[in-house]
Amino acid sequence: MTCFRRSLLTGALAASAALATALMAGPSFAQGAYPNKPVTLIVPAAAGGPTDTVARLIAESMTKTFGQTVVVENVGGAGGTIGMAKVARAAPDGYTIAVWHIAQSTAPALYDGLKYDVVGDFDHLGRITDVPMTLVSKAGLPPKDIAEIVAWMKANQGKATYGHAGIGSASHLCMLILMKELGIKMEGVGYRGTGPAMNDLISGTFDVMCDQTTNTTGHIKDGRIKGYAVTTKSKVSSLPDLPTLDGGTLPGFEVSAWHALWAPKGLPKDVTDKLVAALKVALKDPKVKERFASLGTEPVAETQVSPEALKTYLESEVKRWDAVIKAAGVKASN
Ligand code: ASP
Repeated sequence: MTCFRRSLLTGALAASAALATALMAGPSFAQGAYPNKPVTLIVPAAAGGPTDTVARLIAESMTKTFGQTVVVENVGGAGGTIGMAKVARAAPDGYTIAVWHIAQSTAPALYDGLKYDVVGDFDHLGRITDVPMTLVSKAGLPPKDIAEIVAWMKANQGKATYGHAGIGSASHLCMLILMKELGIKMEGVGYRGTGPAMNDLISGTFDVMCDQTTNTTGHIKDGRIKGYAVTTKSKVSSLPDLPTLDGGTLPGFEVSAWHALWAPKGLPKDVTDKLVAALKVALKDPKVKERFASLGTEPVAETQVSPEALKTYLESEVKRWDAVIKAAGVKASN
């Protein structure tokens, strides 16, 4: 073999070895396949609360679908605006996503100088569920039914206290509307989420709360708190003894905490498609459906699980709550 032929052969061998190494381990090849590392799912509320419960069920199913861990990170505070600001600033690569709720639509009206645009700074992936809410109190409060708790709140306004997850959170919004309808004022006690608020309601630190069935159902059933009514137009099958507020006390009263999946604006199309597909799988997952049902909710219709449907819905909710919040004259200070 001449020297020339040997160096050609050596060169070819070296080149194919380098190619094989790149094919086996090269990050540039693996990078194409999303997701190739854990995905962070931000919950803009404290651990152990209702949004956290919904998000962890979705994360568990997505983990199975992706073969990569979807890790929940709780970033509570300021009615979810701290967590959603973090999502808006994250790289739009699909490795930071968020499960949040109706508060995404109330934040613009409530927070002057909000650090992000709730529509323009996000990719809207799909709705998840509409969770009914419940009017509840600490177990030691005397009222036994909806008429009695309404009379009690009226008689004790000024000294009665309610818990909420920050200005603009679902629990805050629900109580705000309730107080406006009843023409009363109670003192709010803010938390980073209604997970910790629930612990304090159970220990009797404050009096009443309006919170999602995903946080209240078990505690009502176990007698740790009292449940009086649901905030949806129809009764909730997991809490059959509770009347609707609409049905008697407050005709027309309706508020539920819709949840959705978001990402920072600018995801590559294939990443969006994979996330939406994984969300659809999660919402058909028997474990998710069963758990949702036991907590008084269900997945939204599949037609709602799309970027276009969520964007349209969010825009209409922003308009709807802007009018309600302006009429109530409420503002948060950032
Ligand atoms: N339920 C809370 C709210 O009122 C949020 C949470 O803790 O998940 O918005």
